[in-house]
Amino acid sequence: MAKLVVHQEKISDLQELLKICPFGAMEEKGGKIEINAACKMCQLCVKKGPKGAVEYVADEVQAIDKSQWQGVAVYVDHVAGVIHPVTYELLGKAKELAAKINQPVYAVFMGKSIAAGSHELLHYGADKVYVYDDPALEYFKIEAYTAVFENFIDKVKPAAILVGATTVGRQLAPRTAARFRTGLTADCTVLDMRENTDLVQIRPAFGGNIMAQILTPNTRPQMATVRYKVMQAPKRQAEETGEIVSCAIEPEKLQCRVEVLSVVPKEKEKTIDSAEVLVVAGRGVKKAEDLAMVQELADLLGGQVASTRPIVEAGWLDAKHQVGLSGRTVRPKLVITCGVSGAVQFVAGMNHSDVIISINKDPKATIFQVANYGLVGDIYEIVPKMIEKIKAAKGVSA
Ligand SMILES: Cc1cc2nc3c(=O)[nH]c(=O)nc-3n(C[C@H](O)[C@H](O)[C@H](O)COP(=O)(O)OP(=O)(O)OC[C@H]3O[C@@H](n4cnc5c(N)ncnc54)[C@H](O)[C@@H]3O)c2cc1C
Repeated sequence: MAKLVVHQEKISDLQELLKICPFGAMEEKGGKIEINAACKMCQLCVKKGPKGAVEYVADEVQAIDKSQWQGVAVYVDHVAGVIHPVTYELLGKAKELAAKINQPVYAVFMGKSIAAGSHELLHYGADKVYVYDDPALEYFKIEAYTAVFENFIDKVKPAAILVGATTVGRQLAPRTAARFRTGLTADCTVLDMRENTDLVQIRPAFGGNIMAQILTPNTRPQMATVRYKVMQAPKRQAEETGEIVSCAIEPEKLQCRVEVLSVVPKEKEKTIDSAEVLVVAGRGVKKAEDLAMVQELADLLGGQVASTRPIVEAGWLDAKHQVGLSGRTVRPKLVITCGVSGAVQFVAGMNHSDVIISINKDPKATIFQVANYGLVGDIYEIVPKMIEKIKAAKGVSA
């Protein structure tokens, strides 16, 4: 690990040096400066302190042979063999990334009785689908699934691996990354590939105020998770391409300390991420009761109500309705925002929607930068008029 070394003999004024650290990570103990666990390695003390007083000792980086790691792999997310659509979105992205470096696309599929379903992946551009079909993999159990993932990586040595940021993916990806002591970037919104096979992992950071570009230049595989609906799924090709590779792993590696006693399916909920039409309430909605107007518009359009974070924080809707960085990512055919300013954290969750209509009384509201149609005005005048017009068009009495 990189570290800071303090050369006490080069410090004439302890207090001056202590003041430099914005994190309070420098302490004076018995007339000496010590660095505590609050240190963020920002190196301000190195740059601004007395010359040579604090030295940054970098990690010894072992160069890896990147040519040994080839291809872009996708983890096939599924429940009881039913493939999660994020998998197809990631296959589309993997194909794009792999084409830049002229390397293949792989899918790794683990579960029980999944062999037949694995062919579907060949319609979405996978060159090879590695299938681990084993009764011990019937349910997602982290120990067994990580062991299979490890086996796949050891065998195939992919340069990069994409995993859906689902409940399963969010557990499996970090555990696997830790096993290979490699980097993992969660919730990437953009991915790119450099000629030298370094995956550029881009995601909002510092509360959405910057887009960080993260690289894993010294280790392989490079790992990234991506939320559902962030990438566009490719069209299903009529013809299969590529091949299925059946794999097996030693039974003792699949042993787990978790025993699944029963599985109780949850009732299927209608969630905003599956809606084709969303009407979003923002802080322009003044009272909880006024959500009825938003709901009526959503109902008439066969859609659902969603909201910005302040509406959830006010307790008017539950968190499942929140669109954005700390909410859900949506990609409906139509989204109508009502009294939403267009903060980056909100826009990051909906800017890939097909058509965006925004109503805001402030003509300078940032939401108009992403809107396809902008209506400048009061939602309390415009929304009732929209409701009236839709009812008239549908022949519904007011
Ligand atoms: C780390 C972090 C994560 C975050 N994650 C999210 C997230 O996931 N989702 C999210 O939404 N926010 C998130 N936020 C908060 C975000 O920064 C904004 O504060 C929030 O999106 C603002 O919501 P709003 O547009 O409803 O309210 P405001 O910004 O207050 O905007 C209200 C808008 O309504 C307009 N208006 C007012 N009255 C009317 C009217 N009668 N008719 C028409 N227009 C009217 C105003 O002109 C204004 O533009 C996050 C913030 C941080 C720091």
